[in-house]
Amino acid sequence: MSVVPSSLDNNSCDTAVRASFLHFKSDPDKTGEAFEYFEDGLLILKQGRVQMLAEAASEWIDYLPDGSIFYDYSGLLVMPGFIDTHSHYPQTEMIASHGLQLLDWLEQYTFPTEIKFSEREYADKIATFFCNEMLRNGTTTSAVYATVHSESVDAIFEAARERDLCMIAGKVMMDRNAPENLCESAGESYRQCSELIQRWHLNGRSHYAVTPRFAACSSPRQLELCGQLLGEHPDLYLQSHVAENRDEVRWVGELFPQNRSYLDVYDSYGLLGPRSIFAHCIHLDETDRQRMGSSGAAIAFCPTSNLFLGSGLFSLEAAYEHDIRVGIATDVGAGTSFSMLQTLNEAYKVCQLSGQILAPLKAFYLVTLGAAESLYLDHRIGNFNTGKEADFIVIDLQATELMQKRMESALSLEERLFALMMLGDDRCIQATHVMGQRQYSKAK
Ligand SMILES: [Zn+2]
Repeated sequence: MSVVPSSLDNNSCDTAVRASFLHFKSDPDKTGEAFEYFEDGLLILKQGRVQMLAEAASEWIDYLPDGSIFYDYSGLLVMPGFIDTHSHYPQTEMIASHGLQLLDWLEQYTFPTEIKFSEREYADKIATFFCNEMLRNGTTTSAVYATVHSESVDAIFEAARERDLCMIAGKVMMDRNAPENLCESAGESYRQCSELIQRWHLNGRSHYAVTPRFAACSSPRQLELCGQLLGEHPDLYLQSHVAENRDEVRWVGELFPQNRSYLDVYDSYGLLGPRSIFAHCIHLDETDRQRMGSSGAAIAFCPTSNLFLGSGLFSLEAAYEHDIRVGIATDVGAGTSFSMLQTLNEAYKVCQLSGQILAPLKAFYLVTLGAAESLYLDHRIGNFNTGKEADFIVIDLQATELMQKRMESALSLEERLFALMMLGDDRCIQATHVMGQRQYSKAK
C-alpha cells in the first residue's frame, strides 16, 4: 500500500475530491511542462484552500479524517473555475438583441435597459440571475460592469458575496454622450465611486474596478478623476473598452484630437497599468500594442461579441508578440453566451480567420491560469497549487449524445479538450465549487 500523505490528517484536510484533474502551471506556449493531468486524482482541501493534488490511491479514502466531506466525481474532469475577464451583468436580459453595430446598439438597446437599474430591487433580481448563470456555466470569477447607479454595484457585490465568488466590479462612469438620466457630473461620479470603494474594495473576495464606459462617454475631467481614484486607493482595477469598432475609433479621435490614438487617451490620464483591463483592442497599432505590453495592462478578448456586432477580428498573435496579458471574455450582453466553452469555440474561429491557431491546451490555460495572470490574481486562483483558493468545476465530457460519440475516437487529452471546447456548453458543467463548497449542482 502507498504511504498515506500527511495532508490526510485533521489539521490539513476537511474536504477531499476524487476525479480526473487538469490544471496549468504556466503558459503551454512557453514551457513544455505547462500542465498537470491526473486520470484518477485526489484533491485535498482545508477551509476552502488547496492542500494537495496527487494521483489517487483508493485506500487513501479510508484515511480521510472523521467528519470530512468527500466528493466522488470519478469519471468526470475537474478543472479550476473559468474566469471571465469582461461582462456586463445589466445586459443579461437584452442578450441576443438583433441587428446593429456598436454605437447604434448602445443607443437602441443598452441605454434603455441600463436605466432600469436605478431600482435596487430590479438590480438584485438581475444580479442574482447573472451569478446563478455564471455558476451554471462553470465561471467562478468575472470582471463585471454595473450601471451608473450605485445600487447596481451593491446588488452585484451582494449577490457575489452570497455565493462567495471572487468578483471584480464597478460603477459605470459617464458624463456625456449618453442619455441624461445615465449621466452625472464628473465630481458626483467620483464621490459615489469613493463611497463604493470604501464599502466593497478588498471586502472579502470583492475587488473594485474604476469603470469609465469608454472614452467617448467621459469628459477629460472625468478621466482625470478616474486617474485620481487609482492613485488614492491601492490595488484598484480599471476597466474600459478600447478600439472595438471603426466608427467608435473615429469618434474618439474627433473628441480627443490632441491624442495620438484611442488607447493614448486612457494612457494620458494615467489609466494604463497593472490591473487595467481593456476589452476588445481590435483596431490597435504597433505603438499601442507596445504600450499595452510595457504597461502590464490586460486585454479581454471577446470573440462572440466581436463577431455578433461585426466589430472585427482580434489578433491573439499580435498581442503575444508584444507580451500583452490576455484573458478571454463573454462580454454579455453583446456576447452571445455565458459559456466560456462556447466562447472558446468562437475564439478558435476568430483565430482561424486570421490564419492563427488556438490550440486546446492554450485555450484552457487562457480561461483559467492565463486569465488569473491577466488579472494579477494568480497568487490566489487559476490552478490547484497548494494554498490556492479552491474554485473548481466538474465537467462531463460526455454530456450529450454527440459528445459521447465524438469522445469514442478522441484518444488524446488534447483531442478530448478540443472536442469539449467545440461541442461543450452549460450542459457539460455538472457542478461548480467556490472556496471548496458546492454552490451549483446540475443534479439538483
Ligand atoms: Zn463590454
